[in-house]
Amino acid sequence: MSLYFYFMTEAWKEIEEGAIIKHDAAKSPKTGDWRYMKPQVDKKSCIGCGLCFDHCPEAAIDYDSERKANIDYDVCKGCGVCATVCPQKAIKMEKN
Ligand code: SF4
Ligand code: SF4
Repeated sequence: MSLYFYFMTEAWKEIEEGAIIKHDAAKSPKTGDWRYMKPQVDKKSCIGCGLCFDHCPEAAIDYDSERKANIDYDVCKGCGVCATVCPQKAIKMEKN
């Protein structure tokens, strides 16, 4: 639906209210502090292709000594991009 439609028909009154989660960056500077979902890497399935590494917006992925994806949970914000791009489906998102 277009914004015009919502405005002219007053359909906006039917839209559910959203929620805003308060966050104090001074108290929790690490993005991982407010993560809701958490990626888990299945190291047996990971082939070390680097796609998750390339796409992670927080640069939270590195390789371990066996060139398997390794996630830094201090800065991972749980967006799930890594799980989406992984060709091996080696990353699963779980509740934090
Ligand atoms: S995208 Fe998947 S297979 Fe590739 S390095 Fe990341 S976890 Fe491993
Ligand atoms: S969930 Fe998002 S922030 Fe966390 S490692 Fe994956 S792509 Fe990076």
